[in-house]
Amino acid sequence: MSAMAEALARIEDSGTFTNYGPMNTRFERALEDRMFGTPDTVVTTCNATIALLLTIKDAVVTRGRQRARYALMPAFTFAAAAQAAEWVRLTPLLCDIDPADWAACARSEERLIARHHADIAVIVPYATFGNCVDLDRYDWISRRYDIPVVIDAAASLGSLDGEGKAFGKGCRHPVIFSMHATKAFSVGEGGVVYCEDRATIRRLRDMGNFGFGAPRTATMPGLNSKLTEMAATVALAQLDRHEGVINRREEIAARYRAGLPGWTFQRRNGIRQANSLMPVVPPDQYRGTRSELIAALAADGIGAMAYFSPHLGEHPHLVGRVVSDTLPVTDSLSKRVLGLPNWEEMTDAMVDDVCDALHRICGTDTAAVRPSLSRMDQIARQERSIAVVLAPGRNGVPAAEPLAAQPLSPPPPAVAGREGMPGVAP
Ligand SMILES: *Cc1c(COP(=O)(O)O)cnc(C)c1O
Repeated sequence: MSAMAEALARIEDSGTFTNYGPMNTRFERALEDRMFGTPDTVVTTCNATIALLLTIKDAVVTRGRQRARYALMPAFTFAAAAQAAEWVRLTPLLCDIDPADWAACARSEERLIARHHADIAVIVPYATFGNCVDLDRYDWISRRYDIPVVIDAAASLGSLDGEGKAFGKGCRHPVIFSMHATKAFSVGEGGVVYCEDRATIRRLRDMGNFGFGAPRTATMPGLNSKLTEMAATVALAQLDRHEGVINRREEIAARYRAGLPGWTFQRRNGIRQANSLMPVVPPDQYRGTRSELIAALAADGIGAMAYFSPHLGEHPHLVGRVVSDTLPVTDSLSKRVLGLPNWEEMTDAMVDDVCDALHRICGTDTAAVRPSLSRMDQIARQERSIAVVLAPGRNGVPAAEPLAAQPLSPPPPAVAGREGMPGVAP
């Protein structure tokens, strides 16, 4: 950001600070050119929560579903989706999640659709933790039942699907991405809506500008969801380093998977995931609680967080305000999953330190999975782990930050952890 003084001075000179200005237009065009391939299919927003609210409202109004009551979504997601639905006067209808990829469970979802389809105003799938979900299936459901779909892909900007396309590309339903500080593509606060249907993007652009479908004249429901020129300038700069950021985070994720044999990981559905954290589930042999594990990691200077706990059925505000299928997988996963740090400036040695700490705390034998170290390496490692301090990490999330961070040992052998959730029936 400090390198952008010149660009910011240009904004000041131009006198245009918002209202879909030139920097914003450049960013939208760049996303269309580099990711989605079709002109006029992207509109920016001030954040993804407001984008969810706008797209849900638009779906309900445009498709004449004002009488329907529910927004169908998985229980294992961030509060924003349920909050956005509530602002549009919908009741979140919660389905369970799949034990392998942690996105909506098809059976639970289809059970709720079969029972309630006349009352479902919108379906809001979540592309969990930047993973991809099967958009063709949702398109089929949408046509079959005539229910609009809005995809919460908050963490997926830069993820590539199984065919190597940007996640969402070609989708005729709005796909919402977040550029919040905690996401892999970050401008502080910001959002992106992509939709292959240009008429939808045109409407959302007007809705996000007070519903002005004619000059300074409200012709539809509206609010103000515009991204500032300053944020768009940061976004353009981020776009240039985005590939490098995501690829490095993918290397870090692969190293975690190799370094934590016996741990459970999310099943990946695409060929590249935009990681904003590394979600893992400890092996059954770990008998402590997740809070104890987080506290023990914090004592080592490693910031880890619980995700999504509480889940949507558990937030005090939402209890009694949602309708829910049974949630055995969500209940189990949300109590156990742990988000480890994953950001591009982490070195391999830092990742190894986190794995070592986890093995020590959880009583897994590191010697079994790592080549033994020379005595000198051991001493150096100990010194280095003493030098690991609890520093406020990037994005306000505490993260390990070693003072001396040179890789000291060869990478551990690539032993993949288990995929999915053992012991939980789908
Ligand atoms: C981050 C996130 C959001 C909210 O995005 P903001 O840009 O912070 O409003 C919504 N849903 C999910 C699943 C998220 O991870």
